[in-house]
Parts: sequence; C-alpha cells; structure tokens
Amino acid sequence: MNCEICDKRTTNPVKIRLEGAVMNVCESCAKLGERVSPMPVFSSRREKEFEMSKEEIVEDYSSLVKSAREKKGWTQEQLAREILEKEFIIQRIEQGRMPPTIVLAKKLQRALGIHLITMVAQEKVELGKSQDSGFTLGDLIKVKKK
Ligand SMILES: [Zn+2]
Repeated sequence: MNCEICDKRTTNPVKIRLEGAVMNVCESCAKLGERVSPMPVFSSRREKEFEMSKEEIVEDYSSLVKSAREKKGWTQEQLAREILEKEFIIQRIEQGRMPPTIVLAKKLQRALGIHLITMVAQEKVELGKSQDSGFTLGDLIKVKKK
C-alpha cells in the first residue's frame, strides 16, 4: 500500500494519529503523528476476570458430610479432631443448620474426599460495569485526552 502522507509505496505501514485522524503511513512519516498502539491486551483479559466464578457451598452439604464420615467409620468427634474443629460444628453441619465456611469446607473435602464447593459464575452486573460493554479504543483515547 501507499503512505497516506507522502504517497510513497510501503510494505510495512504504520498506523498513526494525526490531528484526530488515523492514517497508515510509511516509517519516515510516522514521526509526524502519534503512533496508534494496537488494542491494549488488558481489556480482553479484564473482561474474563469479571466473569470469574465464585466459590459456594453445595446445597446438600449436610448429607454429603454425614454419609462420607459414616463411610469412613468415623464419629463426629473423630472427624472434628481430624480437621481441628469442635464437635458441635460437625453436628450443626450434618444437621444442615450451618453451612461450613469455604475454609472449613476445604478441610472437610480433604479429610473426607468429597466435593462441597461449587463454582458459581459471578454476575457481571455486580461490578457495575455492564454499561461499559460498548467501550472502544476510540473512547479510551477520548478519555485520555481530557
Ligand atoms: Zn510517508
């Protein structure tokens, strides 16, 4: 293609911004304007972070813990000792009266070989960024110029 400024043939055009317009120019004319950097990588990576999932305790945690413990032939007290917790905590969990915290659930998972944690996709709305989905590089530049 040809340079949009000097019309010289160039095999490796450079995108620059000159007085608000984006042009494809040759290497030597590139100095006349500001180089337009390619779309920043972070934007797509960030988008994924917004959709990252969050850990939640499964609904049937009580029966899972109880049956896994009984399979091992442990009493509630033995299980409590195994994960360094109080016996009444195990009782409450098995009665379904108190879901374990993520930390506790992880200890139970290790001790009993069960899965108590499920990954739940987080709503994008929670981060209050939903209205920014139409964000373009052009918008980014406008923001920077202010
Ligand atoms: Zn040129």
